Amino acid sequence: MTTTLAIDLGHRFADELPELAVTWQAAETPEPRLLALDEDLAVELGLDPDELRSPAGLGLLTGTHPPASATPVAQAYAGHQFGGYSPRLGDGRALLLGELSTPAGLRDLHLKGSGRTPFSRGGDGFAAVGPMLREHVVSTAMHALGVPTTRSLAVVATGRAVQRESVLPGAVLARVASSHLRVGTFQFARALDDPALLRRLLDHAIERHHPHAADAANPALALFEAVRDAQAELVARWMLLGFVHGVMNTDNVTISGETIDYGPCAFLDAFDPTTVFSSIDHGGRYAYRNQPGIAAWDLARLAESLLPLIDDEQERAVELATESLQGFGPAYEAAWARGLRAKLGHGADAPAEADQVAGDLIALASGNRVDLTGFFRALGAAARGDAEPARSQVLDLAAYDAWAQRWLALGPDAALMDRTNPVYVPRNHLVEEALDAATAGDLDPVDRLVEVLRAPYDERPGLERYSQPGTDTGFVTYCGT
Ligand code: AMP
Ligand code: MG
Ligand code: MG
Repeated sequence: MTTTLAIDLGHRFADELPELAVTWQAAETPEPRLLALDEDLAVELGLDPDELRSPAGLGLLTGTHPPASATPVAQAYAGHQFGGYSPRLGDGRALLLGELSTPAGLRDLHLKGSGRTPFSRGGDGFAAVGPMLREHVVSTAMHALGVPTTRSLAVVATGRAVQRESVLPGAVLARVASSHLRVGTFQFARALDDPALLRRLLDHAIERHHPHAADAANPALALFEAVRDAQAELVARWMLLGFVHGVMNTDNVTISGETIDYGPCAFLDAFDPTTVFSSIDHGGRYAYRNQPGIAAWDLARLAESLLPLIDDEQERAVELATESLQGFGPAYEAAWARGLRAKLGHGADAPAEADQVAGDLIALASGNRVDLTGFFRALGAAARGDAEPARSQVLDLAAYDAWAQRWLALGPDAALMDRTNPVYVPRNHLVEEALDAATAGDLDPVDRLVEVLRAPYDERPGLERYSQPGTDTGFVTYCGT
């Protein structure tokens, strides 16, 4: 008989917001086997990696043996999926096991692929090894790149076969987040038309993520603006790295400002702003270049949900929310400009000319379809006087030379560039290759890839294939439902 780990898991969400939580339990796992564990994260959370590897640990990580203190729940939320409203989504294949108390604050311990729940609709509640390891690889990389994100603690194969286009091995992802509150959580609460519930959700969100909003003259508006600014910052970070989330539905936009739900996501190789990776995104709604606009659209849905808390008088509430929402564009542009300046080796004190030079580079880079990651990294070498690695990536040499002269005259800081422009990002062809191997039973490529991605700014000999772009920018198959 498997014992249970004696850890403390809180149930604040379940206690404070019972209308949004259904007490539930994970499905049995025929033959649990650990595929991946982030030991550093375990230690950060105050968990013992060796204990997590034990049968009791696997019982925690798959939810089959939650600690006695826990009240696992499926969370309710709504969401606009590709623009269309679904009033009742929720955790159809996930559970919130509970909250860990850490020195950095509460951290949700959450499972994905843990079986059917009352929110499963037609889905089987399970997940396949490939997509769960994809989330592990990409979220680990994002964290190492300094991007706010949910984290992957572990992936455990269940021993259960799941039916997709073919039969695939099943897995559960144990995910850690500062919370799983989403725009869709507010949409769901708003639709219940229960002002006290909406107020409780607001207070819960403020306390967990944006405590300063509690003291504002208008806490609901202050929360909205905090989320707006966190999302503007987040999406700017994505754009600067060439990250395409792929499914920015309102249920996949967090209140914390962490990246969540790594589905059909990928990093650009060739810099083409129209790039779409998701095989189900036929209209290109979530293309690279559309991401800031979509974030603003999603935030408008949050603002709508908060209206009754912003002002008793609807017209006034709309006026205030609209004005706040208009702050998204400037917040995004400022974050993008600041980040782009750093990528080109300029600090906050650089002259205004630095922003013009940066804007011209973006036009040059997209016109020449350079490899976004490789090109910016090579510019660091150019700042040190080694022009060729960057220059050789551009077709229009005259335009590049004219640009480089203006840029170099501004005195770029090469060390700052090397801290800002990664060598290694999760290139889609490498991710796909590693996931295919893992699905066939060989975990070595995933292990090696994660190892490389844990130090993305640190160029190491012998890892050339990890810094090269892929030749084929294919679709990422959507493995959701
Ligand atoms: P996602 O694409 O992971 O953000 O999920 C969107 C919605 O579909 C959420 O409500 C999920 O819980 C639900 N869902 C995704 N996959 C499954 C599945 N295999 N079984 C049940 N529900 C699912
Ligand atoms: Mg819950
Ligand atoms: Mg989701």
